[in-house]
Amino acid sequence: MTTRRETQTRLDQLLKEIEHRNPAQPEFHQAAHEVLETLAPVVAARPEYAEPGLIERLVEPERQVMFRVPWQDDQGRVHVNRGFRVEFNSALGPYKGGLRFHPSVNLGVIKFLGFEQIFKNALTGLGIGGGKGGSDFDPHGRSDAEVMRFCQSFMTELYRHIGEHTDVPAGDIGVGGREIGYLFGQYRRITNRWEAGVLTGKGQGWGGSLIRPEATGYGNVLFAAAMLRERGEDLEGQTAVVSGSGNVAIYTIEKLAALGANAVTCSDSSGYVVDEKGIDLDLLKQIKEVERGRVDAYAERRGSSARFVPGGRVWDVPADIALPSATQNELDENDAATLIRNGVKAVSEGANMPATPEAVHLLQKAGVAFGPGKAANAGGVAVSALEMAQNHARTSWTAARVEEELTHIMNDIHTTCHETAERYDAPGDYVTGANIAGFERVADAMLAQGVI
Ligand code: GLU
Repeated sequence: MTTRRETQTRLDQLLKEIEHRNPAQPEFHQAAHEVLETLAPVVAARPEYAEPGLIERLVEPERQVMFRVPWQDDQGRVHVNRGFRVEFNSALGPYKGGLRFHPSVNLGVIKFLGFEQIFKNALTGLGIGGGKGGSDFDPHGRSDAEVMRFCQSFMTELYRHIGEHTDVPAGDIGVGGREIGYLFGQYRRITNRWEAGVLTGKGQGWGGSLIRPEATGYGNVLFAAAMLRERGEDLEGQTAVVSGSGNVAIYTIEKLAALGANAVTCSDSSGYVVDEKGIDLDLLKQIKEVERGRVDAYAERRGSSARFVPGGRVWDVPADIALPSATQNELDENDAATLIRNGVKAVSEGANMPATPEAVHLLQKAGVAFGPGKAANAGGVAVSALEMAQNHARTSWTAARVEEELTHIMNDIHTTCHETAERYDAPGDYVTGANIAGFERVADAMLAQGVI
């Protein structure tokens, strides 16, 4: 039997090859590192996983599509963006994962997200593979008509690569209900099919699932609650810092309030708001979802309990719980040190890879419960899979039923990660637990299905 050390040496060698073969993709390297550095115990213990080529296949996307997206703005000027869809792994089901529209999008970012999605989706237990896509298009400040023309152009290429049994995109940063509507309309027009299960995050009344908009944020709070429960605590009366002000952040704040905790911050790229009375959700939803504005408007309209800190970091605000819900690498080692100094008990990732590796190590070393995004934010994609199930059955479930399923799924994911970490001598280490548990499910399916 190979030892853990020998296995780790092989995995380190593979990581070097990944860096060499995928130059200038630091986010993908980071995501691959984060997984491969936790797999040695399971690969050493189970010889079938050491089979040559298994992990090498896992880190190579099955298919990567890049395409031109030309569109005209309201003045008739032509813009050219780049579109991506990385179909990473379909051993467990059709590729599944969101589309991100943001100027920071490039192939490396989409590959990191697609790679994470493989394990996250496996953890849901719902039979979905991993994929991700998007564009460097910036929807900020664009009119509805411009966003519509962009989405139509994007789908005019994407449609040939997706399908309810092939690849099922959804939303992510910059892609919400409005964009999914335009994308679905164009798909339906081009294909002449009512294929509801080709996209998730659809509107109520035309195939969308209740609780899908809420699911990522709700799920993350449920995961944080499960981590606290494990330590004999709960959310009641706790103060929370939340970053971001998009879909994930908004429904994180909503669920925290429902469980008796108080979220005192939100943020966007211009800075953050701290509100000592707790974030007023109606006002935040009005500004972000209706007016598509910025968080400084919140502080202006809220009155004396709130202030806007331009350019600041929410992690400076003392809290019991931290829920990063904005974007990758938004919480670094210094932020982690500040949180620890202020007595944080749990950090749970609503965004994908928001904590840097150094921050994660520091938090874990300090004994803070840390929920990695792969596990903690899986509620969104889980309810997407429930949306697909409802579409197949031509039915729609009540909000109560979907939320009950979501609660079961998040508790199951928590238990799976917790037990897997214990099984591999890493008690309380949810990063190791999530990576190994997700890996086992995907690897078993890949081995059973042969070298493809
Ligand atoms: N973009 C979300 C995620 O990161 C949801 C994906 C989906 O619903 O397919 O998991």
